[in-house]
Amino acid sequence: MRSISLSDRAIRAEPRLEDGFGRRFSYLRLSLTDRCNFRCTYCLPNGFRKQPGLAPELSRDELVRATRAFAELGLWKVRLTGGEPTIRTDFADIVRDVARLPGIRRIAMTTNGYRLREQAGRWREVGVAAVNISIDTLDARAFARITGHDRLGEVVGGVDAALDAGFDAVKVNSVLTKEPDQQSWNRILAFVAERDVCWRFIELMRTNDNAAYQAARRIPGETIRDRLEAEGWRSLERLEGSGPAVDYAHPDYRGRIGLIAPYASGFCETCNRLRLSSRGKLHLCLFGSEGLDLRDLLQSDGQQGELVARIRAAMPGKTRGHRLHDGDSGATPHLASIGG
Ligand code: SAM
Ligand code: SF4
Repeated sequence: MRSISLSDRAIRAEPRLEDGFGRRFSYLRLSLTDRCNFRCTYCLPNGFRKQPGLAPELSRDELVRATRAFAELGLWKVRLTGGEPTIRTDFADIVRDVARLPGIRRIAMTTNGYRLREQAGRWREVGVAAVNISIDTLDARAFARITGHDRLGEVVGGVDAALDAGFDAVKVNSVLTKEPDQQSWNRILAFVAERDVCWRFIELMRTNDNAAYQAARRIPGETIRDRLEAEGWRSLERLEGSGPAVDYAHPDYRGRIGLIAPYASGFCETCNRLRLSSRGKLHLCLFGSEGLDLRDLLQSDGQQGELVARIRAAMPGKTRGHRLHDGDSGATPHLASIGG
């Protein structure tokens, strides 16, 4: 992480963005696209389908203007996500532009890993500091069944390429489901024993499109937590600006294991992030309303002041927490639509 420059400090002169519950925001999740080439069973089981009448994706310039406004409001960490963000042919250019913005101190990305083996070095070079790769299983057949692609070897190769490229954090996102053969504990332990990665289990979240699947396949995060604690793993302290995972370490393993448990009590209390969809809408919560359109204020650099004011004015609308426990996933059809 680079040190804070004079221009960063000037930007911080304004009060930082805060919501009605005293939560402060440091982390922007920027969706570059809602398109994806995979068909994960819990996300886009039928693949990406373009909805008629959908607004176009934000252009590179629009994305950069939006990020500049969030940086002015004190958000210093950006995660590029989607859909599959690396589908965009201008992905590396967007990274380069975002990395140059005053106030941006860290760029991370989340990917299904299909281009990582070839591109890891380039993406590191243009400014990505940290990469999360989605791997729900280390069983090749189960991987193909879950994602629709027989590419486990390539994706694991991508993890190793990312480690070689020198990212400062390489993490695996692994959604917890009752898919047959998915949770091969010993394989995951072996993977983590020999690699400096954090393997993070994520509780399967309900969305409007996957309600029946989620009800049938969800495994509570406590199952993993209890197992880790019984096997001598110890939880680590959470750092400022970090995501919602609780990470565990064990002296016999190079890597760590993490748990993201959105259904656990108190999960929303430390929320430090805002989201911008690839169609230009600000989402105050992953499971909130339709979102607030910002596109009309992304058309020229001269609109920055108005844009900052609109984002600030939206903050009282952020609710205390999601309502997933009541079976309410807001307006979210699937996580590819907003950027999970
Ligand atoms: N396509 C990229 C990928 O898969 O890494 C980035 C976008 S994807 C929506 C971001 C993360 O959300 C992935 O790790 C994915 O496994 C996770 N995800 C998608 N739907 C989910 C759900 N219903 N519950 C929990 N995690 C989900
Ligand atoms: Fe695509 Fe990621 Fe959704 Fe899988 S989880 S379908 S890779 S957006």
